[in-house]
Amino acid sequence: MLYDNDIKLDFCDVLIVPKPSLISSRKEVNLFCNLSFNKAGFSLTNYVPVCASNMDGVGTLSMAEKLATRHMSTCLTKHLTHQILLGNKPEFKKDDFIFGTLGMDDFSKDIINECDLRKHFQIISLDVANGYMKQFTDFVKKIRTRFPDIGIMAGNVVTSEGVKQIADAGADIIKVGIGSGSVCTTRRVAGIGYPQLSTLIDCRQMADECGVSLLSDGGCVHPGDISKAFAAGADIVMLGGMLAGHDEGADDSVVIDDGERRRFIFAGSSSSRALKSSKNESKYRTSEGRVVIMEAKGGVDGALVHIEGGLRSACSYTNSAKLYELRTNAKFIRVNRQLNEYFENQTIGI
Ligand code: 5GP
Repeated sequence: MLYDNDIKLDFCDVLIVPKPSLISSRKEVNLFCNLSFNKAGFSLTNYVPVCASNMDGVGTLSMAEKLATRHMSTCLTKHLTHQILLGNKPEFKKDDFIFGTLGMDDFSKDIINECDLRKHFQIISLDVANGYMKQFTDFVKKIRTRFPDIGIMAGNVVTSEGVKQIADAGADIIKVGIGSGSVCTTRRVAGIGYPQLSTLIDCRQMADECGVSLLSDGGCVHPGDISKAFAAGADIVMLGGMLAGHDEGADDSVVIDDGERRRFIFAGSSSSRALKSSKNESKYRTSEGRVVIMEAKGGVDGALVHIEGGLRSACSYTNSAKLYELRTNAKFIRVNRQLNEYFENQTIGI
């Protein structure tokens, strides 16, 4: 048995220290980035590197269209991606900021064999819970060989060893995060995981050595967590829970409306509910996600403004004229208490 005694940290364990800054207004901060897909040989330009997760109620077409207007991206759900690739969504238009999602399920594999992915997507996310399986690396290699110029994001892993394995298989962007998600129960059920802030810090060097980028997947609950993720080494930050419950994610399967009250169901992609609906149940597999219910939050615009505002503020506190400068300019301190929650239960607005 190996035992690493170093304490690994989550976003809530640290704060970023402010420092003298030449930035006099948040509007001076440039959130646009150019993100290289080195293996595929192109760059995504004018990108605000925030990505909606491919979860039900989040990775919808309306969400994707709304985020694209702000130059942010969305990974569509696997189901939607399948429908688009099969030609069942003629209204869908290829967009730089809208990514497809495929897995190693039989349906995804059949579609990959039959369809030209590039016709509909410039970038696809290959999404499995455990990115360490050799079978997954072989899958990534096969897709890279078949589509040399498609942008590939793949994961999830949480260590530099995992980053190298998937980078060597041909991915451009490595998704990191296991067990950090808001509706994920893998840490409870399997005892597996890695605190998200430390994952990013510990994987960054390998990502640079391999010429790949890192997507931080899961664990952000406040806009400040997104700033911390960028400061710790993320090139893209993926959000599930923070974007759930908004009109843009609504469809009959997630909305409960009794005429007086509108609520949303938000389910982990490995919850029993999701496994049942994707016919992914097996006697060897148990749920690793929870199903939650939340009050409807209205349109997603307010959340996006809040996220952008938080990023601009973090950049101005750290003298970062551009978003990616946060990584070099930010210094973290480990804290005993991050937030003052005295009025947490009496808050009526922000
Ligand atoms: P959040 O932003 O909500 O904290 O995290 C979103 C991420 O959680 C997703 O992008 C996905 O990687 C992960 N996730 C979503 N559903 C589940 C689940 O049921 N089980 C696990 N282990 N992870 C999940």
